[in-house]
Amino acid sequence: MNTNVLEQAQAMSGELSAIYRQLHAHPELSFKEYNTMEYIEKFLTDLGLTVKRGDKNAGLSAVLTGGLPGKTVGIRADIDGLPITEETGLEFRSQNKGAMHACGHDSHMTMALGAAKLLSENKQKVRGKVKFIFQQAEEIIAGAQVMIDDGVLENPHVDEIIALHVVPTLEAGRMETMNGVMLASSDMFEITVYGSGGHGSAPHVCVDPIIAMSNIVIALQNIANKKIEAVKPVVVNVCQMAAGSRYNIVPDEGYMSGTIRTHDMKVRNEVFEQIQTIADGVCAAFGTTCKMRPVYSVQPTINDEAITQKLLQRTREILRDDQIKIRETPYMFSEDFSCFGQHIPASMFFLGTYNEEKGCTLPIHNSKYRIDEDILPLGVAIFANYCLAD
Ligand SMILES: [Zn+2]
Ligand SMILES: [Zn+2]
Repeated sequence: MNTNVLEQAQAMSGELSAIYRQLHAHPELSFKEYNTMEYIEKFLTDLGLTVKRGDKNAGLSAVLTGGLPGKTVGIRADIDGLPITEETGLEFRSQNKGAMHACGHDSHMTMALGAAKLLSENKQKVRGKVKFIFQQAEEIIAGAQVMIDDGVLENPHVDEIIALHVVPTLEAGRMETMNGVMLASSDMFEITVYGSGGHGSAPHVCVDPIIAMSNIVIALQNIANKKIEAVKPVVVNVCQMAAGSRYNIVPDEGYMSGTIRTHDMKVRNEVFEQIQTIADGVCAAFGTTCKMRPVYSVQPTINDEAITQKLLQRTREILRDDQIKIRETPYMFSEDFSCFGQHIPASMFFLGTYNEEKGCTLPIHNSKYRIDEDILPLGVAIFANYCLAD
């Protein structure tokens, strides 16, 4: 066990909590993380690292050059908050009205900054280079691609990349990961249904888009149940519908949108084809017409086997076996970390934040979400030990 790295990280716990609380109190929304980036830039500059700001919305990165030969490892942290009004009542609660770090990105930044500090203090033992990548706008699944287009994976070329996300259902102090597909794709579909409006008392002379829309929602349930092989997980969920302006006016048209989650690109394409078929068929039956618009967003997050094995092996040096969990089934939520994995070997792991005694039980994206701060040194140690020589 390389307890030394964990001890060093634990010795930083007071400082890590201070960083975390500072970031937690000042959340900023996607692509508006101006003060957050200032803070990160100052922290990294004070460590002696040269920070590179990306062009327009492309976050920032900094490279640490180790004393030993080796590859360049990327450590990615996302930095945006959510449009939620915080209700935790914590003394370091959000000072920015209508914004909250409810997805734990404040803790991700803290752990990456902590790793930058620990590795800077142990530079001679660092293999190769470490590129710290602070990404904007993960919540709207947009920032990763902007950074990649801006060239963050080059100069120096990043050979492999790791990242973490906190997870509220796993006990605090435990990490989990798995080989292969770990998170789902995330896509959207929009359907506009066209009818012909009129008086609510005379539906027979109108073509009602609302009845067609209602039947489309029901018929879409058929996709997961009857069209996709049962062993392949898929979510097709209409989450938004809008039509009409008053109780007695049949509207001309209506709008609906929904999300699609899968672990398999073939399934993803089949789902879009099915949505089109169902929307067209139902509309024909009800005398309406429609336009379906697919909005492709991110592919599934796939953990590279070699990087994941290396991450597990290195983590076993600092955590006990009962703190490490290998997941057997992927999650249905999504991450734009998947974009990095389309270019270089990538692996993501999760760190539990659930602690009943400390009241850390609620899900992420909840206005009362909070983490157990004792996990901060663990994330620092996992990141840092991955980059250090044996
Ligand atoms: Zn989130
Ligand atoms: Zn998140």
